Order: sequence, then structure tokens, then C-alpha cells
Amino acid sequence: MISDKVLFVDDDISTLKAYKRQLRKQFSITTAIGGEEGLAQVVERGPYAVIVSDLCMPFMDGFEFLSRVQEISPDSIRIMLTGNADLNIAIKAVNEGSIFRFLTKPCEPDTLANMLGAGVEHYRLVMVERELNEKVKAMSITDPLTGCYNRGYLIEHLPQEIKRARRYERCLSVVMCDIDHFKKINDGHGHQAGDNVLRMFVQCIAGSIRKDIDWLARYGGEEFVIVLPETNLEGAFTLAERLRRNTARMEIEIDNNEINISASFGIAWFDRDTPDEKVLSDVIIDSADKCLYQAKRLGRNRVIG
Ligand code: GH3
Ligand code: MG
Ligand code: MG
Repeated sequence: MISDKVLFVDDDISTLKAYKRQLRKQFSITTAIGGEEGLAQVVERGPYAVIVSDLCMPFMDGFEFLSRVQEISPDSIRIMLTGNADLNIAIKAVNEGSIFRFLTKPCEPDTLANMLGAGVEHYRLVMVERELNEKVKAMSITDPLTGCYNRGYLIEHLPQEIKRARRYERCLSVVMCDIDHFKKINDGHGHQAGDNVLRMFVQCIAGSIRKDIDWLARYGGEEFVIVLPETNLEGAFTLAERLRRNTARMEIEIDNNEINISASFGIAWFDRDTPDEKVLSDVIIDSADKCLYQAKRLGRNRVIG
């Protein structure tokens, strides 16, 4: 729910009461006496869609108040109201304060209501655009079938993860895994059953790794890469073994029959002593892929590091 709340800040109580009386039918109005109380309201009760401030107030004037509002609540629409109608002040307010409207007192109730309406609408548009951008960004890094990160995310973020580990002299492991004989599931039960198995596999893995630290990306069809910061070979091996066991234990129901799957895992890792050329993103992935290939060759359902 996008906020439609409006905050009025003035040093004069009777002015605040008048605003509230005039506008409370159309807007959800809160008032605050002076900048300090206004800021406290923004922090405790925000976000406000529109914040209207008087210019001349003791202790903190409208410029300072609204510029601090901009830091705390950058999306709130800021309106300045003042009895001082100097053009230079208006220019300063709009140019330096990123202020949406500058109004002079006394302001006709209808004019004020129209300005607030325009401010609330502007805020709503800003919020809708923000939500849309966030959705597009999330979609651009997410694999639509399984919900884990996609290959694009891996390619962009693994080098960053490596850089961070090198800078702080930490180790890092990468596990590549691939479902065994997955083609048989598609061939025997249909592509949709195969899709469900992929989703369940990702859920199983995502539920077995450290939340907010480790992460998982779909590398290709039924092939995934798990990135494990601060994890040496021993730790990665223990984790991959657990993933292997959990995968083999998964109860998958297809057409009222229970089927089992297995997966193979290849591990690559580095620590602070590893030479630079061995910690390039491509080299690490290639090295994990080689171990995975070895795991397949040795009979599948196993971990090779
Ligand atoms: P191996 O044990 O050697 O990995 O054998 P495999 O059958 O798992 O491997 P292979 O590479 O021969 O086959 C992978 C199959 O995965 C073939 C492809 O059609 C299927 N696949 C890839 N992406 C998807 C997908 O999104 N959904 C489904 N259902 N199948 C997919
Ligand atoms: Mg496979
Ligand atoms: Mg494969």
C-alpha cells in the first residue's frame, strides 16, 4: 500500500489547526510544531507522501528542515509554504531544496488541496516506478523456472565475490552440481515432471546452504553453481556431501509414483596462498566442472574435490 499521508510543519499552532480542519476530509494529515518535531514524525511515522513546511521557523528554518527530510525520506514530496514571498527565496527553495512546489501564505484552501493532490499523485508515480524497477532488476537476475539466480548473475557476481575474498585474505569454494541421468526423467515422465524435479532440487539445495552467505545460480539446463564464501575445501566437501545425501533422500512424487534422483558434485576452492591466475572466475568454474566430470565418470552420485 503506497502512503498518502501528509505532514504539515509550522511554528504556529493555529495555522496547523487550520490546515488540519481544511484538509482532513481529503488527506490523512499529521501536524508537527517546528522542524525537530517534524523530523521525529518522519522517522517514527514515515514515510509521508507529502511534507509541507513553513519557511520561517525558530531553531530550524524550512530550508534546513526540508533538506534533512530529503536525507531521511528522499522520496517524500516536499512543499514550502511561506508568508515571505521574495522571488529569490522561491528560486533558492526550488533549485537548492529540490522542492516540488513553493506556495505563499495565506494560501487558498482549494489551491493547497490541489497542490497536495498533485504531490500525492507524484509520490505515487515515483513509488510505482521504483517498484517496477525493482521487479525488472529481480527478474533480470532470476532464473524463472527455479527462482534461483541465473547465469548472468553468476558471471557478474562471482568475480566480485572472489575480489572480496582476496582483499580480506579469505578462502572461497565453488561447487558445481548436475542432476544424474536427468534426461531419463524427461523422457520417462515428460518435460513438466522434469521441470518440477528441477524446482525441488533447487529448493533442496537452497534449504541446505547458509542463508544470506552462500548462494546458488543455474548455470545451464540441470547444472547449478553454488558459491561458498569463507569456506575451504574441507568445508565445501562436507557441505557437498550433505547436499548429495539430501538429494538422494528427496521424495519426489510423479504420477502417483515415488521416484528418486541423485546428483554429482565437483568442487574448486582457493585460499590466500593460491596464485592469482588460479582465482579467475573462469578458471575456478572450469576447475569445478572438471571435478564434476570426474564424478560423473566415476559412477555419479558422488563428490569430487
Ligand atoms: P548425466 O548424468 O551425464 O548428467 O546425464 P543427464 O541425462 O542428466 O545429462 P544430459 O546433459 O544428457 O541431459 C540433460 C537434460 O536436461 C537434457 C535437457 O533436455 C534437459 N533439460 C535442460 N533444461 C531443462 C529444463 O529447463 N527443463 C527440463 N524439464 N529439462 C531440461
Ligand atoms: Mg545431468
Ligand atoms: Mg548437464
